[in-house]
Amino acid sequence: MNRTFGGATVSCVRGDITEQRVDAIVNAANARLAGGGGVDGAIHRAGGPSIMEECRTIGGCPTGQAVRTGAGDLPADHVIHAVGPIWRGGEHGEADLLASAYESSLATAADAGARTIAFPSISTGAYGYPTSDAAAIAMSTVAALAPTLGFDKVRFVLFSEADLQIYQQALGRVAASDAGGP
Ligand code: ADP
Repeated sequence: MNRTFGGATVSCVRGDITEQRVDAIVNAANARLAGGGGVDGAIHRAGGPSIMEECRTIGGCPTGQAVRTGAGDLPADHVIHAVGPIWRGGEHGEADLLASAYESSLATAADAGARTIAFPSISTGAYGYPTSDAAAIAMSTVAALAPTLGFDKVRFVLFSEADLQIYQQALGRVAASDAGGP
């Protein structure tokens, strides 16, 4: 499924983020850039040690922000390490921090010249953010910002069929409101 906002085509696919042939892939990182499970572990395993070496040099990244490294052995050119919020019930600024993580990822990738980018479902694994709420924030943020930053393609890469359905619904809703009604 895909929808176009300005010149940017946004799509949702089921797959593995490490296999995406795009200019930049986004990692769901932690604030210490220390690696871990989930997407983070998969990216460092598939990309090789150069990514962690760069992360150590950078040292860390605040929640809601993103930093860039090379992509080692991965087919992408850049890895954007985005730090999403840990879900603590929704009253601790989680929604703003999640939107900010997507905004910062897009801005950091655009600064590096990227025009195609793939996102995982930031914060909805170990960090516990409810997936449908996170998907709505991800889609509205990307739909608003990706065209103005010159992106051609934004791909959401979901690991499970259930997550794919949730992101597709969110994309449909944002596209409908963008067109002026359901
Ligand atoms: P966070 O700590 O931000 O919650 P996680 O990595 O724990 O991040 O999970 C984020 C989402 O990424 C989860 O839906 C998880 O199933 C999914 N995921 C895990 N591995 C991959 C992968 N290789 N490609 C794409 N998505 C993945």
